[in-house]
Amino acid sequence: MIDNVYSKADVAEFKLWMEWASRFVIVTHISPDGDAIGSSLALYHYLAGKGKSVSVVIPDSMPDFLSWLPAAENAISYKEQPELADKLLQETDVVCCLDFNVPTRIGNVAESMLQSKAKKILIDHHLNPGDFCDLLLSRPDASSTAELVFQFICALGDYSEVNNQVATCIYTGMMTDTGGFTYNSNHSRIYHIISFLLKNNIDKDAIYRNVYNNYSESRLRLMGYVLHKKMKVFPEMSTALITLSDKELKENHYKKGDSEGFVNLPLQIKGIKFSVFLREDADENIIKASLRSVGDVPCNIFASTYFNGGGHKNASGGEIHNSLKAAEAIFFKGMEEWSKSDDECIKELFKKS
Ligand code: 5GP
Ligand code: MN
Repeated sequence: MIDNVYSKADVAEFKLWMEWASRFVIVTHISPDGDAIGSSLALYHYLAGKGKSVSVVIPDSMPDFLSWLPAAENAISYKEQPELADKLLQETDVVCCLDFNVPTRIGNVAESMLQSKAKKILIDHHLNPGDFCDLLLSRPDASSTAELVFQFICALGDYSEVNNQVATCIYTGMMTDTGGFTYNSNHSRIYHIISFLLKNNIDKDAIYRNVYNNYSESRLRLMGYVLHKKMKVFPEMSTALITLSDKELKENHYKKGDSEGFVNLPLQIKGIKFSVFLREDADENIIKASLRSVGDVPCNIFASTYFNGGGHKNASGGEIHNSLKAAEAIFFKGMEEWSKSDDECIKELFKKS
């Protein structure tokens, strides 16, 4: 039922690690999303169920909308407890790198992770993985890392160990990385897996509510402000841009995570195929860019060319150390350059409808 996407050699190698290793540390990316946390906690519950000592280290903090996940409270924030996280990373037998492709995606955790003498495994679905792990399970075709963790547990022969906690975390990752199964979600394999997870009594409706209907009043009001005042629509480029300055965020009682998903909103407009959201992050002194696209428009190329970032074809991000005004100018320069592109997938944006 579930395709085996891993080579026998890779699976056999990890099985050997499982025989001698007792301590595991799972690390995932900065500003973790539902897939980062879902896949990490799924693996955490699986390994803990096998009697291993397991820790999850996240570079910054657990977002509110995921704090209900089983064992989310056990995750260690590198920002808050760097000594503990460093100690765990140096003393562990195995480091599992989930949902990121290169060490820079884990911020300050990178140095400690790279220095650790532990065996390292990467399970991820981003393009162009770096060569920093002993086992590299990179599958850019997968819609989420959570899906890959499920397939990995199955490949290890532990299908039956996917209990309700593991299943809940897997489903959360799969759901969030596909926008509630609205993009990147056409493969039948996804629904085979969900069918199995439902047999483990996951409450998929409650998971949806916990993630998507659990926002603060300030978020909804900020969204109203964004839609009314801040969304610029460029029909001639099939594109929309949203910017939010630190001042605007403060005026709207912004809390971390409040702008999650805003970048998707303009795609609800007929004809809009590319959306860019630029948010000033005064704490980090950066402008954070989030990009989304529809169909073959490669927003990750825009992210890597203009915002030092990357990601998936339809969902990517990046950041620049500059002012919001400068970031906006970079966006317009990028669009100007894109309007002259020979790439059919990019030209799509500038066709008259
Ligand atoms: P989001 O817009 O939700 O922050 O990020 C969407 C996707 O873009 C992430 O899943 C990740 O793949 C990618 N991404 C976000 N920020 C960055 C970044 O700064 N650098 C790179 N390389 N990828 C990013
Ligand atoms: Mn992911």
